[in-house]
Amino acid sequence: MSKELALLGGAPAIPVAVPAYKSVGEKEADAVANVVRSGILSGFYGSPGEQFGGGPAVREFEGHWRNRFGVRNAVSVNSATSGLFAALGAIGLSPGDEVIVPPTTMSATAVAPLVYGGIPVFADIEDETFCIDPAAVEAAITPRTRAIMAVNLFGHPAQLRRLRELADRHGIFLIEDNAQGPLAEEEGRFAGTIGHIGIFSLNYHKHIHTGEGGICVTDDEDLALRLRLIRNHGENVVTSYQVEDITNLYGFNFRMTELSAAVGIEQVKRIREHVEPRRNMAEALSGVVRGIDGLKQPFVRESCKHVYYVWGMMVEKEALGIDRAMFSKALAAEGFPHSIGYVEPLYMLPIFQKRRAMGRDGFPFSLGAPDYSDGLCPVAERVHREQILMFEPCAYDTSGETVRQLTSALEKVCDNLDDLRAASRSELV
Ligand SMILES: *Cc1c(COP(=O)(O)O)cnc(C)c1O
Repeated sequence: MSKELALLGGAPAIPVAVPAYKSVGEKEADAVANVVRSGILSGFYGSPGEQFGGGPAVREFEGHWRNRFGVRNAVSVNSATSGLFAALGAIGLSPGDEVIVPPTTMSATAVAPLVYGGIPVFADIEDETFCIDPAAVEAAITPRTRAIMAVNLFGHPAQLRRLRELADRHGIFLIEDNAQGPLAEEEGRFAGTIGHIGIFSLNYHKHIHTGEGGICVTDDEDLALRLRLIRNHGENVVTSYQVEDITNLYGFNFRMTELSAAVGIEQVKRIREHVEPRRNMAEALSGVVRGIDGLKQPFVRESCKHVYYVWGMMVEKEALGIDRAMFSKALAAEGFPHSIGYVEPLYMLPIFQKRRAMGRDGFPFSLGAPDYSDGLCPVAERVHREQILMFEPCAYDTSGETVRQLTSALEKVCDNLDDLRAASRSELV
């Protein structure tokens, strides 16, 4: 392999694009074929009875999930986005209630409260884990706060025990968006199981998937029933289920098909086999960067287990003597797949800047006076705009050969930082 950086004319470390990861195989194909042969592609009825909870595959899938994560209830849905809506509905979110959310996450987390007229209030992130900062959350709590949404971003747990204590102390709910963190742990407990409700995603890009899908977990029986009612036309069955507080129990069909559930069963049975290789790949990359001034491998808090939906390293321009754009260019030239930045802090989206969600009159923003100005969350802004560089372990093949190629490409750039600094100073590249 050429020692010279590809950016400066050498041969690239990865000449042919690394292959994609494929998590589904013959087991999933057989499971789906069996469902198709049965002719019953969905077992849900929107009326009281066993089938109110779905068909056999849906119920079996939920059973596997309960056992795997050690929770009393698992309620499958057709996406994590639906799961977030259902969770906020289940806690009785009402127009004008405030929900504290991080600005650095997939948009669905921050937008979900709007579905029930809730007002998203942004609290800044920690610059180590990129998860919501408990101190910022505490400062944002008001008498109108109804819930905190913590996202276990990139697969690292937010400070969940602290946030749960904070929520309990204020009599509000902690909802975990754990779309990116299956099998992540804090103090020996699974991420997703520490809040009042946890939501997992099963979309195609996540560690395990059913194409589209999601699942909510909770140990609270009342919340579980409310999640099931929101999932499946609750308005029709609240009388049969003798539900007294019918707040928010109407309107949606979030049901999972038997086809998706059949795939989900095979995926969750082998969840560890799908998660561990991604962790190993990410840790190999961290090993390359560790100890280099100006570069920082993903932080793992003591007593936490990171599952690396994203391997997010930080580039510190002053210490490194090269900015993120230049470092990224050198990596790209070597064929190392990555991107810079994650998402622009979500309050910069038009929905918040124009305060236009439901209807034309600014509802529900007009019920409060939320701050969505640029500069609101300085850590989130700096991390996205200047520092973070991401690799997605879930997207790529995890074979030894691929890991070797990826680490050697990263290593090559790290070994030639002086050349890159010189080139950057003389504006050669
Ligand atoms: C993927 C993702 C979602 C949405 O998941 P879907 O299943 O696609 O609806 C929500 N939150 C986070 C943090 C995600 O990464």
